[in-house]
Amino acid sequence: MSEVSTENGTLKLNAAAREGGRWNLEICVPIPLTNMPKVFLANAEDGFGLAHVDHKGEVCYSDQEGESYDPTDLARVTAFAFQRACSVLEEASKKRSKRDFRALTDEFEGYWQSIPGCHRANLTAPPVSDRALYGQVNKDNRPGLGKVSLRLLALNYGSPKDQKAPNRKAHYFPLFSPILPPKNGQAISNEWLIYLIKEGGIEAQKESVKKGLHIFLFSQPRSEGLSLFGVLFETKILGKNKKEFRSITPFTVQRCWRDYLLERTGQISARHHVAVIGCGAVGGRVAEHLAMSGVDELTLVDDDVFTYDNIYRHVLGEGSAGTNKSKALRRYLSSKCPGLKITAEPVSAETWLSRTTQVNNCDTLVLTTGKPGLERHINREAFANRWPHRLISGWLEPLGLGGHVMVSQYGQAGCLECLYSDWGGSDPSMRVSFLKPGQSVSRNITGCGGRFMPYSSIHAARTALLICEAALGQKSGYSCWAGDASSSRSEGLELTSWYERCREGKPSGDVAHEACPCCSS
Ligand SMILES: [Zn+2]
Repeated sequence: MSEVSTENGTLKLNAAAREGGRWNLEICVPIPLTNMPKVFLANAEDGFGLAHVDHKGEVCYSDQEGESYDPTDLARVTAFAFQRACSVLEEASKKRSKRDFRALTDEFEGYWQSIPGCHRANLTAPPVSDRALYGQVNKDNRPGLGKVSLRLLALNYGSPKDQKAPNRKAHYFPLFSPILPPKNGQAISNEWLIYLIKEGGIEAQKESVKKGLHIFLFSQPRSEGLSLFGVLFETKILGKNKKEFRSITPFTVQRCWRDYLLERTGQISARHHVAVIGCGAVGGRVAEHLAMSGVDELTLVDDDVFTYDNIYRHVLGEGSAGTNKSKALRRYLSSKCPGLKITAEPVSAETWLSRTTQVNNCDTLVLTTGKPGLERHINREAFANRWPHRLISGWLEPLGLGGHVMVSQYGQAGCLECLYSDWGGSDPSMRVSFLKPGQSVSRNITGCGGRFMPYSSIHAARTALLICEAALGQKSGYSCWAGDASSSRSEGLELTSWYERCREGKPSGDVAHEACPCCSS
């Protein structure tokens, strides 16, 4: 191993591996060691047909995801990188000599991305042969550039987002068996492009000989799914039966459709329709997390208008002030989570619940209205009329004391009503309350109409997470979180023994009441 140069904080080493094969390598060690060293074949062209070697000759010896190493141990980390790269090359070389190119064609897309000039364009839905595909291309042929520079801005199905670049017809050609990528370290040649187009079939060949600019998107099978890659090029007619491809520019696509994006998080789309009734600080967070969790349909119900007063604990911001909460939340989540079906219902809970067909389309009803009386009424209706839905109520204690969630469902013992014991009486106290009854904690800055309950965005979010876990079927019955009581104590508030039990982490999961008018009969 010999040192070549130290530049821009990178130590460059030349190394030759002797055991097994002979590899001339260049190792680039960042100083300080904030990343793992990069290992290249000194001559990129030696990598042809080798898996885990990109177009520039870089050897992929580690996936770099959470690799743990001592950043002060330069010698050992460098030796590790060198040894790992050598064993990757040995393995790849054995496969190449057996003409086993599966690993290489499986990573075709990654290789394609490493070709100089390769760029990425958004694609909103999986490509299909029978759907008209268009592309917007930026073509730069200023004299100073020396050659025409092509860049694909986006692919679409007929609705361009950027009006500055006109839509051009693009073509999608699925390959039925995988091909090998172009040679390492060399620009894509006319010969290789002819080979690719031939694999694309007769339509690709017919299209490619037409004069002008072409946008070709290809797919080829890999062990799991498809590789997607594309190429921009211009066909010049040089004479009768003489054509040439120029400005050959590779591109890849950013998959922007829901199933792919969800899969990237380790989740899958589930057939689950949730209605969030009450889109305030808690309901807004519930909707946001459910939208990202794989639930495939959301209905948002709220007749209230979002105002500046809500901003510091709501998922929505200033731009939504003056708009109905359900509509503003739908707009926010639709742009955040493409492909998710979201309906806004800017009406009261009672009005929406009277629309039986809509309600029956839902699997789960989340109640985050902040109105205990309303939610008890809905719970009673649900049991009296044998609703099949899971009902999930979530609410907060003031001053960060905690939050509660109750899952109720017809046919199961234990429901929201079980948490009360005032049937026929006038004291609406709740058995699981953290504050002893009769203490007022609501605040008032501007007068009677301006009363509010003191809690922060973090408290709303913590409660929303519990509700989401329940909605996704990971929790049933009663659950809660109990926070720090110092703010409450400093205000002289008295706490219940239930709070103390919950704070110690021993809340009883079974809160069914044998005399409950809803679920006990
Ligand atoms: Zn009950």
